[in-house]
Amino acid sequence: MADVSRIRKFSGAADYTANFVVKDEIDRFLPGGRHFIDEKEIERCIAEIAGKPADPALVREIIAKSESTRETLKPSETAVLMAAAGDPALFAEMKAAALRVKKSVYDNRIVVFAPLYMSNLCVNGCRYCGFRSGNSEQKRRVLTMDELREELDILAGRIGHKRIIAVYGEHPSTSTEYIAETIETCYSHLVPAPNTGAKVGIRRVNVNAAPLPVEDLKVLRSVGIGTFQVFQETYNRRLYGQMHPAWSVKGNYDWRTTCFHRCLEAGVDDVGFGVLYGLCDWRYELLATVMHARDLERWFNIGPHTLSFPRLEPASGTKVPEESPWLIDDATFEKIVIIARLSVPYAGIIITARESPESRDKLLDGGMTQLDCSSNIAIKGYSDFESEAHQEKDRQQFMLGDSRSLDEMVRHLASRGTITSFCTAGYRCGRTGGCIMDALKTGREGKFCKINAVLTFREWLDDFASDETKTAGEKLIESELAGIREWLPKFYPAVMKQYEATCRGERDLFF
Ligand code: SF4
Repeated sequence: MADVSRIRKFSGAADYTANFVVKDEIDRFLPGGRHFIDEKEIERCIAEIAGKPADPALVREIIAKSESTRETLKPSETAVLMAAAGDPALFAEMKAAALRVKKSVYDNRIVVFAPLYMSNLCVNGCRYCGFRSGNSEQKRRVLTMDELREELDILAGRIGHKRIIAVYGEHPSTSTEYIAETIETCYSHLVPAPNTGAKVGIRRVNVNAAPLPVEDLKVLRSVGIGTFQVFQETYNRRLYGQMHPAWSVKGNYDWRTTCFHRCLEAGVDDVGFGVLYGLCDWRYELLATVMHARDLERWFNIGPHTLSFPRLEPASGTKVPEESPWLIDDATFEKIVIIARLSVPYAGIIITARESPESRDKLLDGGMTQLDCSSNIAIKGYSDFESEAHQEKDRQQFMLGDSRSLDEMVRHLASRGTITSFCTAGYRCGRTGGCIMDALKTGREGKFCKINAVLTFREWLDDFASDETKTAGEKLIESELAGIREWLPKFYPAVMKQYEATCRGERDLFF
């Protein structure tokens, strides 16, 4: 059990809303009151590129820098890529470079995960969100530990996911104590796999939750949190104020924007950024993302492990998604992802099942590294799937676009020569934070993970795959093993020893 003796408790929603933010834990990351999201600089960068064609020589220089150093670009360099994205020939060069960067950092792997919604109670009032307090169209609930185990029976036991993103509303009923208990429950719940009966379970719990104080983050670290993901929604302070009422905890822009600084101070060194594209000018958001990454690197030498790209979607009880003047079309969305891939080259890029299958398939060639599938975003949606409509608007945050199952996705990826990785070794053997940053920037992580991807892929094919998927997957494994033999001849026998043990039924072997 996690030690929660040092974290503060709240008597209810009003007490929480009034007292949750710790001012000192904001101020120390904004020395002199200066915010690292420099609005004037963002506006200057946008004005600089307005109506001007990009200089091809400069664009190529920036692409070369991204590819060779894999360091975060300067905002002014990202702005040049934004201008270049309007030129079809230059954009084609950027796309090709984005794919090369992706391959050099992450090889031909795609990591898969599933969202697991733990609750939809929320003290906040975000105007675009169906979970906001005061929306009477939502049926509210918080999963009990027994209900969570029922969800895991499906997610880990039937579908075969090893990695989840656990999602929590912001509310005292889903306090840090609750989050810690749910993480521990996820890790301890093992179930028999359908094809082999091997004991399987969730091996990495990433968390999407509200910003927390340092002491709370230390508790989550102690129970083995994977990535801590907090979506900024919009970096534009004025618009942020319009979307998030000042009376709410989330209305505090500085508390939210400094949350990853607190994570890194607390030792939660795997952090995931996200912007809700469609609320504001995408150029503003991307430039601010780059500034945010650079400030974290300046303080801690660690940047975002992942960037997520949710687009504003219809939600129950709100018209904001239909009325926003900043909604983005598919072509712009592709540009955003390509520019982000080149601007923060080491970061994983997550494109969720909010997107259509066509949109996600296109972005496989644009630098995407992680996707979810067999996803259900209703509270208790996995275990209720067979008994109720699984996409009820009144207990989920938005609607999904890609409903492909994990088995279909694995087969689809294999047909493209892409291996689905179920590897979760990283945080369990200390490859997080600065260590993973180095490994990613030097390209070592991609190679390491290829081996672990093959081992976990073999496990998954045996435990869960349909016959058709297994056949497609085994063909891919053959070529992956041949690649490892060529690349690491001396290490190959050790890889084969683990591979053969996995074939015999041993589980969770990794390097
Ligand atoms: S976006 Fe998050 S914080 Fe805002 S109302 Fe929805 S669940 Fe609550």
